[in-house]
Amino acid sequence: MITLEEISQIISKYNLDRLSISTIGSHSALNIFKGAKEEGFRTVCICKKSDMIVYKKFPLADELILVDSFKEILDDDVQERLRRLNAIIVPHGSFTAYLSTEKIMEHFYVPMFGNRKLLQWEVNREKQVDWLRKAGLRIPKIIKSPEEISSLTIAKLPGAKGGKGYFLASSPEAFHKKAEDMVRRGLISNEDVEKIHLQEFVLGVNIYSHYFSSIINDDVEFWGVDKRYESTVDAIGRMPANEQLEIDLIPTYTIVGNIPLTIRESLLPEILQMGDKLQKTAKELAPPGIIGPFCLETVITDNLEIYTFEVSARIVAGTNVGIGTSPYAYLKYGEKMWMGKRIAREIRQAIKNNKLKEIVC
Ligand code: AMP
Ligand code: AMP
Repeated sequence: MITLEEISQIISKYNLDRLSISTIGSHSALNIFKGAKEEGFRTVCICKKSDMIVYKKFPLADELILVDSFKEILDDDVQERLRRLNAIIVPHGSFTAYLSTEKIMEHFYVPMFGNRKLLQWEVNREKQVDWLRKAGLRIPKIIKSPEEISSLTIAKLPGAKGGKGYFLASSPEAFHKKAEDMVRRGLISNEDVEKIHLQEFVLGVNIYSHYFSSIINDDVEFWGVDKRYESTVDAIGRMPANEQLEIDLIPTYTIVGNIPLTIRESLLPEILQMGDKLQKTAKELAPPGIIGPFCLETVITDNLEIYTFEVSARIVAGTNVGIGTSPYAYLKYGEKMWMGKRIAREIRQAIKNNKLKEIVC
């Protein structure tokens, strides 16, 4: 694994007056670039040729590194170019979706904003559960094998797949039938079925809470919440029940977009404490804990119990709903603050306080 010492050496050779903020062109890249520019940084987008239109129509990247596949970010010439541009990489959901965490940890010699060690916790569901438990958060019951399914259960594929290919089952028979059906429809593969993770399905509404863990200020800030717009689950209510039965509908959770929300104020004490507890545990598991943005993915039931089913230790695309400003960012920072800009500001403050090496890995 790449050591902090190696990253420190790379940073030592950087021209801090010409630092650039870089990420791969997808997910929350526009959010990140706009924030970086407002804080006075240059921006570099590693962009698939097929997606160039986005960064032409929204010209927020000073430099485009064109690739055929995001995997090329690991190529020596791309890494060299990034280092020459004094780039700090801000990782987001497309990193975990399209790149191997092992390869990033072992072969990517470009400083990243965040804690590289925690990327491992994000992609490994067992590690996540362990982290959430240690932090004392309420989590859905884990079902060890399909044969143990006795109530409504959600079946999840490994990795951050945006809910693609998830399905529900309430008995072992239903699980096997649906899994076969999903394979037949090409929604999942036979290998996926082996790796499926089973959780109690908690009935309630989904809330995605966004936080920012500032190492410079030693504080966990609350940034707001979003809900997701998922296909097909959000379409089901638009269809009469008898039609649903007729086509033997399997709801899926493919993310299409995000919807901004504010949260009942009496829920805030618990939501704020959850962020603090997660960071406290992260500090113990992988010091200095989470660096920068993170998200707790929760279901809130009708008796206001909050169940956390996942954590993302990096910027989530749900923060795109706050580009420009959002109610909670406004409460703390006044106008014109959002997650991409908060990241850039942390980097700016770290440079000023001579602490850049403490927030990159
Ligand atoms: P993409 O580059 O759009 O394929 O996104 C990479 C991964 O990030 C996807 O597999 C999704 O899991 C997740 N993702 C992308 N966009 C969003 C979004 N707007 N809200 C939540 N998750 C997202
Ligand atoms: P994820 O990819 O983990 O973000 O999950 C995708 C979607 O599945 C979420 O947005 C929820 O709608 C749903 N979901 C995940 N886990 C649970 C759970 N334990 N109970 C109820 N719904 C869940």
